[in-house]
Amino acid sequence: MIEIEQLSKHYGSFHALKNINLTIAEGTVFGFVGPNGAGKSTTMAILATLMLPSSGTAKVDGFEVTDYPKEVRKRIGYMPDFFGVYDQLKTTEYLHFYGASYNIPRPERDKLIPQLLELVNLTDKQDAYVDSLSRGMKQRLCLARCLVHDPKVLILDEPASGLDPRARIEMREILKELKMMGKTIIISSHILPELAEMVDEIGVIEHGEMVAQGKVSDIQNRL
Ligand code: ADP
Ligand code: ADP
Repeated sequence: MIEIEQLSKHYGSFHALKNINLTIAEGTVFGFVGPNGAGKSTTMAILATLMLPSSGTAKVDGFEVTDYPKEVRKRIGYMPDFFGVYDQLKTTEYLHFYGASYNIPRPERDKLIPQLLELVNLTDKQDAYVDSLSRGMKQRLCLARCLVHDPKVLILDEPASGLDPRARIEMREILKELKMMGKTIIISSHILPELAEMVDEIGVIEHGEMVAQGKVSDIQNRL
């Protein structure tokens, strides 16, 4: 589902990514681990077509990000590490807004949005204003937003950061459901144990280089 080959990115003379290679099979929950500044966000932003690579290729479902950005965007739901939410909207309105931006017709949205709110455990908040939600709830609303166009791949940049333990457990349960729905999920963190329980495979990045990739048990034994 994801094929990255010799991917590099530099900001001026600074090399943030150095010849990254990475393959992620369909349906995998992939943990992308590395210290702050390692290059996780840069890799994810390139996959989400928000940033162009300096060299190399990245494909999503066979479509190269630079050549076919529209095809890639249809297939990807991206949650940035900083999310702006429109506080003056109600949660349902917020999701309508995103659904409309993907040209999903109103009657379809009327069916879809309650399902999405249920998936992220926000049914009881369907009439609540976004700014009344806790951080964990806002994060889950943001996840629902990423799902409006039913993408095959979810790219979640540090979704657990700033969440309390209970909110993290809730997020983990939702990710399990998304895995069962067949989604391919990439989730980053600078804390390996935080990911170990919820992912199938792990890739470790340091200073813009992939230093290890494999099953969770193999990586944990090596670190
Ligand atoms: P991570 O997500 O692993 O913390 P990032 O991909 O955000 O890492 O950043 C990788 C490196 O690139 C960091 O050293 C960061 O400071 C640098 N960087 C990221 N974005 C920019 C930018 N727009 N301009 C210059 N340097 C950047
Ligand atoms: P993270 O590592 O969690 O992604 P950062 O604080 O590194 O967060 O980056 C936040 C934003 O600032 C990103 O959009 C990144 O591209 C940008 N950025 C990071 N480092 C630099 C930098 N040295 N110069 C300019 N922009 C940067």
